[in-house]
Amino acid sequence: AGTLFVVATPIGNLGDLSPRALDTLRGVAAICAEDTRHTRQLLAHYGVEQSLVALHEHNEAGLAERIVARLQAGESLALVSDAGTPLVSDPGFRVVAAARAAGLRVSPIPGPSALIAALSVAGLPSDRFAFEGFLPAKAGARRERLARLAGEARTLIFYESSHRIDETLADAVAAFGPDRPAAIARELTKLFETVLDGSLAALHARVVADADQRKGEFVLLIQGITDEADAQLAEGRRVYAKLIEHLP
Ligand code: SAM
Repeated sequence: AGTLFVVATPIGNLGDLSPRALDTLRGVAAICAEDTRHTRQLLAHYGVEQSLVALHEHNEAGLAERIVARLQAGESLALVSDAGTPLVSDPGFRVVAAARAAGLRVSPIPGPSALIAALSVAGLPSDRFAFEGFLPAKAGARRERLARLAGEARTLIFYESSHRIDETLADAVAAFGPDRPAAIARELTKLFETVLDGSLAALHARVVADADQRKGEFVLLIQGITDEADAQLAEGRRVYAKLIEHLP
């Protein structure tokens, strides 16, 4: 049987594709890609011609069966997403689960991921962290999620897009308090790479004041609770948040 290679690709700078990733993408029978046009561009940069299979969230379950059949027939395949590591806030989970359930070999070709890149430069405690992916788009659900995280001791990591970074920071100030240390890693490995750190309130003020700081792709990192006093403060806020839900 063939192997399913889960291949990390650059999060901006094309030079971050590893030599082993390139060899793997060249060597497999086909590449399952989130967006075939996007992956075609990456491959063109390296002069690679390959057959691509589109992997959308809505076809992932059906596609998983076909991929398993091809692997069982002896073909090796690669799985990539548009940027970074597949399955990390990206498609691929069903395909990997199906391949493993079928007893097939699934092998990682590790490389960039925005969350790890951001954590490695944020200057926040990194021994324990919790990746929360994207927050809910709706304000109510987002605030509720943040309120539930206010007591977390680990560094929290979120993905965010340019059109919500302002609101998300405002909601984070409300949930964690203005003084909580945090960082924003923007456009990592790209031309306008910026890593800002400071209190949540200071970061929010900076993003509000400077439209450039609202452009691009973001990772938001928020330090966890560090001592007992903070924990009590967070508990107070959590109870308060619950109480105001029930006010007319
Ligand atoms: N699979 C990817 C990974 O391993 O990082 C993440 C895919 S997710 C759909 C895209 C989000 O990742 C963006 O909205 C942003 O929050 C974050 N991201 C991706 N590239 C980034 C970059 N160069 N700088 C900062 N954040 C980035």
